[in-house]
Amino acid sequence: MRRLHRFHGGLKLEDHKAISTARPIEPLPLPSELVVPLAQHIGAAAKPLVSPGERVLKGQLIGLPEGYVSCGVHAPTSGRVLAVEPRRVPHPSGLSDLCVVIEPDGQERWVEREPIDYLNADPSEVRNRIRQAGLAGLGGAVFPSFIKLNPGANTVRTLVVNGAECEPYITCDDMLMRARAPDIVAGIEIARHLLGAIEVLIGIEDNKPEAIAAMRTAVQAGGHAFEIVPVPSIYPAGGEKQLLYTLTGLEVPSGKRPHDIGLACFNVGSLYALARAVLHGEPLISRITTITGNVDEPRNVEALIGTPVANLVAAGRPRPDTDAYVMGGPMMGFVLPGPDVPVVKATNCVIARSPALFPPLPAPMPCIRCGRCAEVCPARLAPMDLYAFAKSQNFGKAQEYSLFDCIECGCCSAVCPSHIPLVDYYRYAKSEIWARERERKAADLARRRHEFRLARLAREQQERARRLAEKTGGTSQASPDREAILAAIEQAKSRKARPAAETVEQGEVR
Ligand code: SF4
Ligand code: SF4
Repeated sequence: MRRLHRFHGGLKLEDHKAISTARPIEPLPLPSELVVPLAQHIGAAAKPLVSPGERVLKGQLIGLPEGYVSCGVHAPTSGRVLAVEPRRVPHPSGLSDLCVVIEPDGQERWVEREPIDYLNADPSEVRNRIRQAGLAGLGGAVFPSFIKLNPGANTVRTLVVNGAECEPYITCDDMLMRARAPDIVAGIEIARHLLGAIEVLIGIEDNKPEAIAAMRTAVQAGGHAFEIVPVPSIYPAGGEKQLLYTLTGLEVPSGKRPHDIGLACFNVGSLYALARAVLHGEPLISRITTITGNVDEPRNVEALIGTPVANLVAAGRPRPDTDAYVMGGPMMGFVLPGPDVPVVKATNCVIARSPALFPPLPAPMPCIRCGRCAEVCPARLAPMDLYAFAKSQNFGKAQEYSLFDCIECGCCSAVCPSHIPLVDYYRYAKSEIWARERERKAADLARRRHEFRLARLAREQQERARRLAEKTGGTSQASPDREAILAAIEQAKSRKARPAAETVEQGEVR
């Protein structure tokens, strides 16, 4: 029996999961319009490859990865491109981003699908195909999968599979494991092969007995030695660092990645998508999403990426007093700017909110330094200090106090007796630091361009001087000063020569 390690802090929460697991996963009907954002993953947005009026096939690449941290974007169904334009996307800011808008033709005609012979292909070729297929982590981070599948110079000994799904209300991974365990296991084997891992640990929270049983059956049927480990249901057991620590006792140091300590961690949804991409040649164009909260029919559906959230939640029949929709769980999710925004690769759950289900918090009070936030922080931070630094815009100090180790789990906010929305302050501080970093990089770039221009002008001047020196029989090492001196001498010579010539001319006249 594997010895488990208890991570610091965390909370025992009411999970509210049973309400959305009563019925099987169902496909969602085709909407009349799909809005597919070109930036759905961490890193650079994909570059649009289609224009309005163009016809596309299901699974066709419509966004080309740009830069290293990027992956492809695909048409979720066949149809016609209506527009390539900014549309509102699921982000707390409510800002718009470039999207490809597709009118489905209802025929679901697929592009030619090419499975990947991953056992005989070069691993870098397989990773490139995975990149093109648009695979990004479906556990919420949406980090391009091909990068996580590339250990580089590191040796990955243990592959950890994340089936913990610890946020209340969310059940998409649980239902996926119950219904499609053999595909997930196939995806695990592909990842294990690409990473060269010798051990596979599948962590599943112990409040998902059906998922544990289904995964056990699939692992046995596949003849694998993967170990299924039920982990205690303590939020945030599914945080990457927390799950790795629980299962291995190893801590990922601040600023490092799991690869650096011989580990890799993948969510079950990502591994399912990996199996579909490699074994069936299907890019990532749909995902399982939970619809729950203030709805009459909580459930899980398979939704095409780009489906408007309004169509998604209609399947759950929201109640009339619904006042907003939250993407993600109640701890880490955010309120959507409106139901017109599309389902994206990161949309694991949409919770219909109502004042009765989620009563508004009382007004925040001053911090009383009770320390409860620090007791529950799984990252062992000092949340009250981070809050003070963020509030006073002392971002340097916030960084010094490891702001970027905060996983925004919300445990500190949940226990704060002063009802301070602590996580909002951390998100604000992080976004300010990123914005300043972007500004600094832009200023650096401008300065480098200016210096480059000055250097080019000096080079050109030197080149002119060298040519002039060659013409006048001087040295090829002419400097700009030398060029000026030579020019002055030439002028002086011509000035001296001119009166003499004039005298001769005058003399002759005489
Ligand atoms: S829990 Fe709230 S009141 Fe207590 S120390 Fe933390 S921030 Fe201050
Ligand atoms: S949100 Fe950040 S600071 Fe608060 S408990 Fe979670 S990790 Fe700690």
